[in-house]
Amino acid sequence: MGATHGLPDAKELATELNARHETSSAETIIGAAHELFRNGGGLAAVSSFGADSAVLLHLIATVDPDLPVLFLDTGQHFGETLEYRDRLAADLGLTNVISISPLPDVLAEADPEGRLHQSDPDRCCAIRKVEPLARAVEPYAAWLTGRKRHQAATRAAMPVFEAVGTRIRINPLARWTTADQAEYMRRHNLRENPLVAFGYFSIGCFPCTQPVQPGDDPRWGRWAGKAKTECGIHLSGLENALSSSASRIHQQ
Ligand code: SF4
Repeated sequence: MGATHGLPDAKELATELNARHETSSAETIIGAAHELFRNGGGLAAVSSFGADSAVLLHLIATVDPDLPVLFLDTGQHFGETLEYRDRLAADLGLTNVISISPLPDVLAEADPEGRLHQSDPDRCCAIRKVEPLARAVEPYAAWLTGRKRHQAATRAAMPVFEAVGTRIRINPLARWTTADQAEYMRRHNLRENPLVAFGYFSIGCFPCTQPVQPGDDPRWGRWAGKAKTECGIHLSGLENALSSSASRIHQQ
């Protein structure tokens, strides 16, 4: 496990790394992040094992199959996603997939019947995703994600290296297009989440994900009919949750 502290100069470091890796390939970015953080503060990856996850995980497996891969087991996933997590990890030889669950006492109090997503999806994501992710990444100085700029308007200007409080989030595939992704999947014959065949091109929790028609925006199938477009783990909610998680841990 990595250190329990972030980086005092995360913002500065992110700016410097973005300048250095302006035209670097995803392979180079992952290699550089590994060299910089694996033994210097700690490095992990976060994966939803969704429609687009195999590419990042394949790249990670070629660099370090023992890298911690954090999966948020919200308790509301499709069974197919949980099965895919295990099968893909076995295909790629990933040895350190860590499933993180929401806190049982919080769930018992706030969502005893598992229906909070209907009445208050933001609160549901806060207790099933944001708090568990903050707890999961707390021991690491940096973590990799598979997010891409084309996936959502909220990600259009996303940098490759981002400071999240005193930690760094790394998006090595930020510049990739749908075509880049499809070509890489084909070239390496990577296993696809079985839900993709049924029109689920962006996959989250079962109650909040719908299939879309080919050609439609894949994100349309997430929280369809609601104003919500992100679960909060990539927005400022995580930074806030990390600060409160750190202060909780340091008070113990
Ligand atoms: S995606 Fe839906 S079910 Fe999953 S945590 Fe968010 S609101 Fe709850």
